[in-house]
Amino acid sequence: MVFHFGFRRYRLPLRSPLRTAHGPWAEREGLLVRLVDEAGRSGFGEVAPVPWFGTETLAEAEEACRGLGGKVSAKVLDAVPERFGCVRFALACARVEVERLALKAPSRTQSGDSALGATRSTSSRLPVAALLTAGRAALQELRAKLETGFLAFKWKVGVERAEDELGVLDDLLAALPGYAKLRLDANGAWDRRAAARWLERCAERPVEFVEQPVAPADEDALLGLAQDYPVTLALDESVVRLAEARRWQSQGWPGVFVIKPVLCGPLPEIEAWVRESKADIVLSSAIETAAGRAAILPWAVGSGVTKRALGFGVGEVFAEDKWNGPVLGARADAGWAHGVNLEELWTALS
Ligand code: MG
Repeated sequence: MVFHFGFRRYRLPLRSPLRTAHGPWAEREGLLVRLVDEAGRSGFGEVAPVPWFGTETLAEAEEACRGLGGKVSAKVLDAVPERFGCVRFALACARVEVERLALKAPSRTQSGDSALGATRSTSSRLPVAALLTAGRAALQELRAKLETGFLAFKWKVGVERAEDELGVLDDLLAALPGYAKLRLDANGAWDRRAAARWLERCAERPVEFVEQPVAPADEDALLGLAQDYPVTLALDESVVRLAEARRWQSQGWPGVFVIKPVLCGPLPEIEAWVRESKADIVLSSAIETAAGRAAILPWAVGSGVTKRALGFGVGEVFAEDKWNGPVLGARADAGWAHGVNLEELWTALS
């Protein structure tokens, strides 16, 4: 099978800059890729690197795409090296879609027919975890989000003084109804002692898990904390690609893996790994556009790779609405992707 291949660069301002450990993030840059088969069936994918997370850079991704040329065989697509996780994710999304359309209709297919995930069950849904901002402002947000039906929440910690944050934690948990869950994300900000203090405080409370309590480099502390406390821990910054997740598994990691599909690699590879290893995963956003999510969300709800709330409740972050796609509420289903017009997004970049 030979495909026509193309890619286009995007640079999209965010509605308001996101606070990251590497300073404010004001615009998202990436690529859209397109594969078209001989019958004219097209599939799209998004390359959305986050280099400080350990992915390829955008320049490297662009170079890899340029290297593929205007015509690619399936063999060439398969040979893109593992370190280009973002490029591999995008190419696989595009290819899966072309192949799905080919199975569905052997003749030339209209682009408007490209309802993603249609081969999956469309009746399943997963809760979406709403992201709460750091500090005391989280309390008001929690109340507002509960009213709109959210039942899973993630709160960023390790940002302000621990005394203050622990006080807010008590208030958040007190405001949380019995059916709802709170996850904490320290983004590796604590040292082992600080982490121990927090984990003591979280024990026996409705904390779903604590994400990346200490920095990825401190592997002994991560393994030790996971052993010493009953609270479930999750690795996020420690595992960008599956090779890292496999390594942690071989060391006996007992907790959860946060997988950002757009950074990790092809969705079928993630699915195969979960099936073979029985890994407990949380799927999470890496501030990809609607193009990336249009592939991820139907797969997430239809494949059964996770039962945990999806970490995609980051809100409508892009200034221009079409890049956000339909508003994602408290629950996600495969139908969400029907509201994303990939052809239109592609054309917008020409
Ligand atoms: Mg995280």
